[in-house]
Amino acid sequence: MGLIGAAFNVLFGGLGAFFRDNLKNKRGHEYMATLAAYHGGTKPSQPKLAEDGVLTFDKLTDVYSSGTEHEEDQPCHLVVADLDICHDKCVKEYGNPCQHFCPAMVYEMEPNENGEERLKINASNCVHCKTCDIMDPYQIINWVTPEGGGGPAYQLL
Ligand code: SF4
Repeated sequence: MGLIGAAFNVLFGGLGAFFRDNLKNKRGHEYMATLAAYHGGTKPSQPKLAEDGVLTFDKLTDVYSSGTEHEEDQPCHLVVADLDICHDKCVKEYGNPCQHFCPAMVYEMEPNENGEERLKINASNCVHCKTCDIMDPYQIINWVTPEGGGGPAYQLL
């Protein structure tokens, strides 16, 4: 019955077997809530995660353990279509969530010489999960295929 149901889902865009149980779904980024909607407009402080260094680790240790490698001078494979949205709009509306949902600390907001927060992309950390492309609330991050040979050492994961 499961296979029949799966066939109906594929053929009829999520419509289940015997035309019932129509699976409703939304794109991932449509689940993102603004700071105003979720926290009443204030930006919450980020809780320090309690990595114990034995079973749980900080993000950079995880990236190191994944064996991720990219040529440092290759073109950036994370293309942000409009940085003004990151710096002016996203910071107020969503608090730049790319800093938090990326598991590899690729995105960091860092102050420039004028003290303005600017997006820094550490593309060589990327573990190719594509979360940013899916969850970016403005859909301006485009994950494009990096140069061959880069990325995590999958046999270690
Ligand atoms: Fe981070 Fe994953 Fe996007 Fe790479 S693909 S930048 S690891 S969220």
